[in-house]
Amino acid sequence: MANEAGSKRAAGLQTRLVQAGKNTQAPGGQAVNPPLVRASTVLFKDTAEQREMRARRGSERIFTYGARGTPTTFALEDAVSELEGAYRTRLFPSGLAAIGFTLLAYLKPGDHVLMSDSVYEPVRALAETFLQPYGIRVTFFAADGSDLEQRWEEGTRMVYAECPGSLVYEMCDLPAIARFAHARGALVAADNTWGCGVLYRPLALGADISVTAATKYLSGHSDVMMGTVSTTEAVWQPLQQRCEAFGMTASPDDAWLVLRGMRSLAARLRMHEQHALQVAQWLGERQEVRTVFCPALPSDPGHALWKRDCTGTNGLLSFELPPGTASASVDRLIDGLSLFGLGASWGGYESLVTAANMQRARSVTDWGARGPVVRLHVGLEDPADLIADLGRGMALL
Ligand SMILES: *Cc1c(COP(=O)(O)O)cnc(C)c1O
Repeated sequence: MANEAGSKRAAGLQTRLVQAGKNTQAPGGQAVNPPLVRASTVLFKDTAEQREMRARRGSERIFTYGARGTPTTFALEDAVSELEGAYRTRLFPSGLAAIGFTLLAYLKPGDHVLMSDSVYEPVRALAETFLQPYGIRVTFFAADGSDLEQRWEEGTRMVYAECPGSLVYEMCDLPAIARFAHARGALVAADNTWGCGVLYRPLALGADISVTAATKYLSGHSDVMMGTVSTTEAVWQPLQQRCEAFGMTASPDDAWLVLRGMRSLAARLRMHEQHALQVAQWLGERQEVRTVFCPALPSDPGHALWKRDCTGTNGLLSFELPPGTASASVDRLIDGLSLFGLGASWGGYESLVTAANMQRARSVTDWGARGPVVRLHVGLEDPADLIADLGRGMALL
């Protein structure tokens, strides 16, 4: 009681520190980009408003607590929904988390899921270490969908596809798969990281759920992790409820970065495509190259479906070396490149290279008789420089 001052007394330093700088309504215009809003606690005017907001948040997207999203994450959700043609979108801390949650939200023990042989490889580990022990049975089907009917079971509740597939970009007929699955009461989910709502739109082709690793092209700068799940209105609730039950949330800082990257997505993709097609043509003329994998190439087995269902291609290209090429030889090629960074992931502005282990990445299709596969992500660099670099690497084979 050092100070007996009454109501006129200025608030103490500690109080002023808590309350200062809260008036963020600066006079003047408005920034181009949405503000970055970080929050755990959200304040309400009075008890009536708090009650009303809590009552509405079950069915509406309302800013009531940081774990349920902030205006920044809502802005990214809306942008992704726009691209995917979705009812709504939820964000996840990584693409793999988004895939895991999709499976968890729509499947329960006793269910059976049919997964494409071409899935992003860590999804196989998810199936083995979590889904199967949890009682959700998993069967892989051929990446082109040709054996789907034959592998169908009584308890099949979901088809989980990836189109084009990881590493060698197999196409499947998603509309036909969706018709077949829906006629049997099953859902269709697709990993749309390759097409990211610009080149390919699974929901428009009949899927119920579209998942992406926004880590890749949406963010576009190799500096942030993020996953998205977008759905139709009919299947939205299970995902929403599961996310709230688990307190699933994504960082507004990361959402802000992805949103910023997305503004140039269409322009970047067009450039990745042009550069990749130039590199593909050069690779196709090399005698060391057995096959160039890219569905935009007329020689690719998925080309007709790609033409029907995709609006373009991206910077991903893989190529097969002759069977019997020693792995030390492949290492020399990769280590001999100076413009292609050696690393996994892709979708940033820069070129990357990595060896693809197709034997490990597929269980339905036997890759045993084929040569080693190298995956490129063709970036925004000058394609003539990239081709010269590849030429130097090939010389070391
Ligand atoms: C990279 C990738 C993922 C996983 O995304 P992360 O954000 O790295 O977890 C999922 N699917 C595909 C097809 C990918 O290429």
